[in-house]
Amino acid sequence: MPDPRTPLISGNWKMNLDHFEALRTLQKLAWLVPKDVLSKVDVSLHPPFTDLRTLQTSIEVDRMEFLLGAQHCHHETKGAFTGEVSPVFLAKLDVKLVICGHSERRELFGETDEMVNAKVKAIFAHGMTPIMCVGETLAEREAGETEAKVLGQVVAGLQGLKKEQVAAMVIAYEPIWAIGTGKNATAQDAQSVCASIRAAVAASFGAEAGASVRIQYGGSVKAGTVAELMAQPDVDGALVGGASLDPDEFAQIIAIAAEH
Ligand code: PEP
Repeated sequence: MPDPRTPLISGNWKMNLDHFEALRTLQKLAWLVPKDVLSKVDVSLHPPFTDLRTLQTSIEVDRMEFLLGAQHCHHETKGAFTGEVSPVFLAKLDVKLVICGHSERRELFGETDEMVNAKVKAIFAHGMTPIMCVGETLAEREAGETEAKVLGQVVAGLQGLKKEQVAAMVIAYEPIWAIGTGKNATAQDAQSVCASIRAAVAASFGAEAGASVRIQYGGSVKAGTVAELMAQPDVDGALVGGASLDPDEFAQIIAIAAEH
């Protein structure tokens, strides 16, 4: 059976790059990544909120094939939530994919599984695709609790969704100890956890959703490690932090992913 899942490489720029720097990075990336590569791999860019309008305009005017992404949103559409950003505002900016439940949001800003679930629903309600992040701490890994933690987050985050929604979304497996540390799970470990996530999705939402949901690996992905990760049958792409800030390295990651 042909693989229905187009690889997805997502660049999470976190709180880096003001809108001038973001525009330069986008333009350099557009120059480095040939159009035929973008016919084989989807690429989303997730800059800070203040850069979104600038990137949206440039992507539209220059007819680039990058997908605009956001790093976070609130689950309500409007109201007294000082400092928060509505999914409606993101959709108006042509944002296509929104990261939710990133471990930095969970750990530093107290986001719970319930909040992540509400965000996933809000992102879908406004026509965008969630990239829902899950992952274990080093202590949980060492205690042999990786699957329990990760699958618990998956089940809680997907609560109440329709199977068609789950089939269309993205789950990013990001071991917390590997994010920004230069350490990464072996490709075999990544495959094993991603396969368990897919099996859990299939068990709750049916074989079709299990076969269609895209599962990314994230955690210190570099040009030198992405090929082995992408060769794994249940790894459909990568969520890339640090290495996505360097257009040369990110373009290499994209080109390698396009070959899988
Ligand atoms: C991330 O931001 O989700 C991430 C995986 O970062 P890094 O690639 O720097 O580890």
